[in-house]
Amino acid sequence: MHLLLRFFSIALFVTVVITAWSGSTPHASGGRVAPAFDLLITNGRIVDGSGNPWFRTDIGIKDGRIARLGRISPADATKTIDARGQIVAPGFIDVHTHVESIYNLPAAENFIRMGVTTLVTGNCGTSAVDVARFLGRMKEKPLAVNLATLIAHGSVRREAMGSDDRAPTPDEMKKMEALVEQGMRDGAVGLSTGLIYVPGTYAKTDEITSLARVAARYGGIYATHMRSEGERVADAIRESIQIGEQAGLPVEISHFKISSKKLWGQTPMTLGLVREARARGLMVTVDQYAYTASSTSLESRLPGWLRAGGLVEARKRLADPAMRERVINEMKDGLKRSGFKDFSYAMVASYGPDHSFNGKSIAEITKQVRGKKDVKNQIEQIIAMYEAGGAGMVYHGMNEDDVQRIMREPFTMIASDSGVRQQDESVPHPRGYGNNVRVLGHYVRELQIISLEDAIRKMTSLPAQTFGFRDRGMVREGFAADLTIFDDKTVGDRATFEKPHQYPVGLTCVIVNGEVVFEDGMTGARPGVALRGQGYSLGSAGNNVSSN
Ligand SMILES: [Zn+2]
Repeated sequence: MHLLLRFFSIALFVTVVITAWSGSTPHASGGRVAPAFDLLITNGRIVDGSGNPWFRTDIGIKDGRIARLGRISPADATKTIDARGQIVAPGFIDVHTHVESIYNLPAAENFIRMGVTTLVTGNCGTSAVDVARFLGRMKEKPLAVNLATLIAHGSVRREAMGSDDRAPTPDEMKKMEALVEQGMRDGAVGLSTGLIYVPGTYAKTDEITSLARVAARYGGIYATHMRSEGERVADAIRESIQIGEQAGLPVEISHFKISSKKLWGQTPMTLGLVREARARGLMVTVDQYAYTASSTSLESRLPGWLRAGGLVEARKRLADPAMRERVINEMKDGLKRSGFKDFSYAMVASYGPDHSFNGKSIAEITKQVRGKKDVKNQIEQIIAMYEAGGAGMVYHGMNEDDVQRIMREPFTMIASDSGVRQQDESVPHPRGYGNNVRVLGHYVRELQIISLEDAIRKMTSLPAQTFGFRDRGMVREGFAADLTIFDDKTVGDRATFEKPHQYPVGLTCVIVNGEVVFEDGMTGARPGVALRGQGYSLGSAGNNVSSN
């Protein structure tokens, strides 16, 4: 009898512990029984991020986490979302963004409305140098999305030695290493480079390898906008892989593409280089946006040597007729080598001095301003706009077959390369409004290039695995409740190159850390948290540390 009683009490204890852990025990509060779940999602088809075929289950959310998968009664939840006819997926993780200014637009509406719940910024060599301060600002200025950052080589180099075109002195190298180390200890998830930009373009491979070694010590990744995405793309991939192998850290090749017309169709070769490195045991992954146009600054068309020391120095050089001639000749040669006949592939996204240029090509603008549009006049027009402060550009330089081939590759993730957008007079690349949904609508449903489950995997568990977000990117008990609900029969992008400021259709609900941030409009909730890498000095090694 005594023994039996003991057995029962142990069994009862175990049951209580298990049910409490799974979050299904009603908690008494003030005499009333509080529901076991804050939020319940019923009747949806779950695409869980693993790549597995969809399945059906209810999802119970408690305290920002997925507390239970299984049959759950609406009576056990404070709020129920009926996802009948809809897909429920993990919130999308966009590993390639430029949102250094996110605190000005904390709703990050363009990202939320394409299903993105986590952003990685600090890409292409530009980041906040003070990572602690950057992530810490979230306390005073809460965000709708989760945020992680890389520590960027270009920003660190500028801090240590300005924008000079030379190798660093030993002291400057030490300074850069110290800044990267501090960034990693403050929670950066890795090191980024932008090797076509000033000052990143002046760094030799060994400089980057030294800094990558610092990031490696803290479990970071090396994310790179490579030295070339055009005629020297193969060399650039080899350099990225070499840095990963010598420094001993994973490599993420950003916005993987071929932007030289002469090399269109060569993605079997470029993807092959990545596969070979993986076969040797190096963790290499890539990301891409789902468009045949890229977007970056106008000045990226001009020779690196011209831009050393900044615009003031460049203006002096351009005033020298011999140097100006050299610039024009180099740009002519570069254009010829890339296979484009002129700069009609280059469209202005935003030009401060004259908004009427926005949405027009360099060829069109040259004709309008100069009456002629031969290549030399187009180059003179580019130089004039650069000297007037530069412009944001959209470059129609890729091939659709290459985009699709990259998308099919298992190690490719989907990332926008976008900033936080607001409706204004600019004509930016539409990827900031449509990237993820374009994949779901155009490439999955219309073209059937990849399956829905694989597309979701590329937006969720693969980015989480690669950047070390151990409790995100999957619909799993215990994971953070970041979820995106959409209708797979209607989901699609509306943003075009002509009219980019348009939100997608087909998304019905976006949840961040258990809170609904979008449901027939933005709710105003700001549940985003900072996601810090392994080096975060207060965190336990080997885990991502989430905190507000
Ligand atoms: Zn980039």
